[in-house]
Amino acid sequence: MIGALQLFGNQYGSVKLDAAPHGYPIEPMHDSYGRRINYMRISLTDACNLRCVYCMPEQMKFRARQELMSDEEIMTLVRVGASLGVDKIRLTGGEPTIRPGIVGLVGAIAQTPGVRDIAMTTNAVLLDKLAAPLAGAGLKRVNISIDTLDARKFNGITRWGDIDDVWRGIRAAEEAGLRPIKLNAVVVRHFNDGQDMIELARLTLENDWEVRFIEMMPFGEVTEFQQGNVVSFQEMRANIESVYGPLEEAGYDFVDPSRPFRIPGAMGTLGFITSVTEPFCQGCGRVRLTADGKLRLCLLREDEVDLLTPLRAGATFEELRTLMRDGAFHKPWGHGLAQGVFAENRAMNQIGG
Ligand code: SAM
Ligand code: SF4
Repeated sequence: MIGALQLFGNQYGSVKLDAAPHGYPIEPMHDSYGRRINYMRISLTDACNLRCVYCMPEQMKFRARQELMSDEEIMTLVRVGASLGVDKIRLTGGEPTIRPGIVGLVGAIAQTPGVRDIAMTTNAVLLDKLAAPLAGAGLKRVNISIDTLDARKFNGITRWGDIDDVWRGIRAAEEAGLRPIKLNAVVVRHFNDGQDMIELARLTLENDWEVRFIEMMPFGEVTEFQQGNVVSFQEMRANIESVYGPLEEAGYDFVDPSRPFRIPGAMGTLGFITSVTEPFCQGCGRVRLTADGKLRLCLLREDEVDLLTPLRAGATFEELRTLMRDGAFHKPWGHGLAQGVFAENRAMNQIGG
């Protein structure tokens, strides 16, 4: 259990992390429906350098630092997860790149026995400088959020973002080998559901990227805005097909939340994340770790298991394993949006998407 301390230094700070093997045989965990739970999304912070209107209110209050998991606490829970068969990790937030020492943390997660894939969802504002060190530390891929290619509209939906920062980030990610590049666009009625989608889709003609359109989901304090402005998968598809013709299916695996299509002859693909109108719960092997250390069992349900409080109270590795395994077993089958059940206990930035 006790192994060499590893030091990952970078210009954003240094962290000392115990990257030793967890020393437990890997025992895959399953939920009560028999789905194998092998994918953990970790929100590294609820804070962000932007304020996208569908994600959080402008005056969002973020949690005090001591309420958030420390690097060491994250690493303990990563090892617990890895010992239960978690082999895929996605780092998210809030904005993961604003977390001090992010490169060191990525390095330590990437070296955890059992973890074979580590990706990040980011707004890319800081990727220009961070892409290369993150790739060097073991990050494999990034999903980058960009809802429109129109600089003025981008500034509006993010409340103050500069799209040139995102383009610099995308280029840096490509150069650093964080491929395939995936771009995420949340589609909002009367905002980017027309020509903006067409321009975003056009990027796939000459780039080997996946441009993914996401149905807006209701959360936390902004549910009214979100519910009133959802654009369905069928509407999005019709909009794109009205310009590019019928889309070709590009191999849906029922595990990735994105349903892939291709404009005939395009280098890249289009994806649709249809959580609201056509949920894809049957293949869901995901759990989430919120920035304050709760195991969230479904993005769109309030069910959570507190792991950080027991960890801080001295729970053993074995006790944490039991808590995580039992929590995962009770993962709900799917969300209840169609029945009017919304998860209002948290905004998206605290869960991570
Ligand atoms: N800050 C990073 C970013 O924006 O990529 C990571 C965190 S963000 C919460 C993760 C993803 O959730 C982003 O792609 C974002 O667009 C998406 N998102 C935020 N609010 C959403 C909502 N209400 N419905 C659907 N997706 C949402
Ligand atoms: Fe920040 Fe991402 Fe939320 Fe936008 S979607 S406010 S970039 S956390």
